[in-house]
Amino acid sequence: MKVLKFGGTSVGSSKNINNVIDILENYSKKDTITCVVSAVGGITDKLLLAGKQAQNKDQQYIDTFNLIKDIHFNIINELNLGDSSAIIAFVDDKLNALKSLLDGIFLINELSPKTSDKLVSFGELLSSYIIAETMKNRGISADSKNSQELIVTNSNFTKAEVKYDVTNKNIQDYFNSASQQITILPGFISKSKLGEQTTLGRGGSDFTAAIVAAALKVEQLEIWTDVSGMFTTNPKLVKQAYPIEKISYQEAMELSHFGAKVLYPPTVQPVLDLNIPIHIKNTLDPEAAGTVISNDDAPVNGSVVKGISNIGNIALITLQGSGMIGIPGFSKRLFETLSQEKINVILITQASSEHSICLGIDESDADLAKTAIDATFENEIQLHKIDPIIVEKGLSIIALVGDNMKNHQGISGKMFSALGKNNINIRAIAQGASEKNISTVIAEKDVKKALNTLHEQFFESKTKQLNVFITGVGNVGEKLVEQIKQQRKYLKENLKINLRVAGLSNSRKMIFDEDGIDLSNWKEQLESGEQASLDGFFEKTKSLNLRNSIFVDVTANKDVAFLYEKYLRQSIGVVACNKIACSSDYENYKLLKRLSLKYNAPYLFETNVGAGLPIIDTLNNLVASGDKVTSIHAVLSGSLNFVFNNFNDTTKFYDIVKQAGAEGYTEPDPRIDLSGVDVARKILILARESGFEMNLEDIENIPFLSEAGLKSDTVDDFYETLIADEDHYQALYASAKAKGCQLKYVAQFNNGKASVSLQEIPSDHPFYNLKGSDNIVMFYTNRYANQPMIIKGAGAGADVTASGLFADIIRIGNN
Ligand code: ADP
Ligand code: ASP
Ligand code: MG
Repeated sequence: MKVLKFGGTSVGSSKNINNVIDILENYSKKDTITCVVSAVGGITDKLLLAGKQAQNKDQQYIDTFNLIKDIHFNIINELNLGDSSAIIAFVDDKLNALKSLLDGIFLINELSPKTSDKLVSFGELLSSYIIAETMKNRGISADSKNSQELIVTNSNFTKAEVKYDVTNKNIQDYFNSASQQITILPGFISKSKLGEQTTLGRGGSDFTAAIVAAALKVEQLEIWTDVSGMFTTNPKLVKQAYPIEKISYQEAMELSHFGAKVLYPPTVQPVLDLNIPIHIKNTLDPEAAGTVISNDDAPVNGSVVKGISNIGNIALITLQGSGMIGIPGFSKRLFETLSQEKINVILITQASSEHSICLGIDESDADLAKTAIDATFENEIQLHKIDPIIVEKGLSIIALVGDNMKNHQGISGKMFSALGKNNINIRAIAQGASEKNISTVIAEKDVKKALNTLHEQFFESKTKQLNVFITGVGNVGEKLVEQIKQQRKYLKENLKINLRVAGLSNSRKMIFDEDGIDLSNWKEQLESGEQASLDGFFEKTKSLNLRNSIFVDVTANKDVAFLYEKYLRQSIGVVACNKIACSSDYENYKLLKRLSLKYNAPYLFETNVGAGLPIIDTLNNLVASGDKVTSIHAVLSGSLNFVFNNFNDTTKFYDIVKQAGAEGYTEPDPRIDLSGVDVARKILILARESGFEMNLEDIENIPFLSEAGLKSDTVDDFYETLIADEDHYQALYASAKAKGCQLKYVAQFNNGKASVSLQEIPSDHPFYNLKGSDNIVMFYTNRYANQPMIIKGAGAGADVTASGLFADIIRIGNN
């Protein structure tokens, strides 16, 4: 004999019922079969809803009833039963009884737990009858038996306890004399010794099947559901979750107790002692291997943590006060109070000081618990020996489960550091001495992120997911998105980085997709996005709450730069080519660095100096390894190089500056480049990264622009002065030429002092041959005292800047 149980989805449509019948027919060729079925998917909820509506005098209970009726008759119609008049008459009869019960509830507007059990029984009674009759109708040797005549319980309505002695005997007697090959039993429902209808608790059909399997001592119990086994974590919340091949009874029990809904927690009990394996299978994919729950502890897939589960709607109750220390009896009174109120305690933690006890309970019990506990400790509260109890709601429990965790150090450390890195605040921790389970209480809003983070940590340690949110998709931003699009596959395969663009914005529109924006047509999508705003972008990024989130600033906007602080405080990393934040006042620069450390959120800005050249990274490595920078000589402006490499006595200064603008070498306001401010910012950043406390005002800026150029109010005025002062610029060129020199715009840093100026560079100097928009930096340090460390190459341009940003993102991924 085999016992199979089919859940709500498995019997939720005529198509799925036909699947179930195929599976049963196949099995019955070799063996007799007992099949336990749930109500048609969603019916139990609808029955309860109709009951609540009737109780609240809400006429809509009739609509809900009609919906229940339609669902059943639709299934019967679609099952193509030929002569179905007897079946229809029976179902009609049952539905009439259901309608009368609901009318009764409506009249007296009361729905006791006892009536509720009577009400929900209709679900399983109808489904089991329809399935058995369909099989008979098709000539299969099948019959149904009402489990209420087999399973006997106490009168604890809605979650009754089984009387095993009578129940086992009833089951054995019935099956000893049953002659059909397949027996269909309704799950979930039972009767008390007094003959009242009871149920075994929500999800209880699994339990029914286990009770029958144990009573008959069968070889295997199969639970057929809508997923391919017990997964490493809830597959609805974590896409990467996968079915666990083998798991122990204890592990399965812990996982289901802590929320893995695929198995009703008490199910394991009856089969555990008899060593009957439970096989979880997928009705929608019968070929999938599924999960075997047994005592066979052969190591599988090497993972010490077997699964991660979560329960929502948790409230945390804290009892604390100095009067509790060392005095026995507090916990006893606390737990007695809760037990009297029938409040189930899901998690307990107590600090070793005994100064406080913390309990996790279902949120719906929280108010009752508070009133009851406050009453029990009224005296002590009045005497200020203990504080009035504190109730926190909106929480969830996340549990790591694995029999072998006790033999491995560092699992909880990894768990807490992974959560901490992602800014997930842990409210309470419980770890049993058996160490099969480590549970933490966190805010409900963090659950999805926590499950994904922990799943990545313990089950996908080889890949790391990065979620980037890019603001600014102009020249550079567009290149960056294209580079990401092109390299995604390579990163995944070679660096085990799963890089997803989760948010994109330009100044007008923004779009988000927590599963990663499809980059094949991102421009079209962005065009039809929602209206962009800097705060809106931040709020959305924050609320998506994805692990390893990175905000990428590809603007030159001051307002964007001032939002970094907010991002870092949410543990969202920042990657920027925008120089404004790093060159703002020193306090702000330091604050961002501190926040980055405190919130474990990287803040990288390699492209602030020399676009994609690894200048800051090299400098950071020198400093980190104990070297000390003594001086820096550099040509850091791609724009000014372009200008002075092209300007001579046959060209006009105005034309060259115009051309530099048109080709994207200067900022939209060319004065930022030509006044030297841009270069001053860069040398400031290098000085700061070298460990010097400096501000922009400390950098000596020796201008080369004409008086009028320096004083111009607008960009247009400025261009006018370039035309008018052509002689001034030609004189600069002539002076250099006369000495055989080239004009270069040079930044210098020497022992704490920095300056920027246009210089005449002789032909034997390393700067002399600098071409196009190239940059060069020479670092003199204690180690590089005579021969400087030189970094040289393309220091401007959209492609190289984008690749510098990309390199910063990958640096975070590799970390
Ligand atoms: P049935 O109606 O067949 O009894 P349930 O809805 O009770 O099915 O249980 C199956 C559901 O459990 C899955 O669809 C899934 O959403 C949820 N679930 C939660 N955690 C897990 C897990 N760790 N593994 C598999 N399923 C899980
Ligand atoms: N139909 C019941 C419920 O929805 C029992 C079950 O499906 O296991 O809770
Ligand atoms: Mg279930």
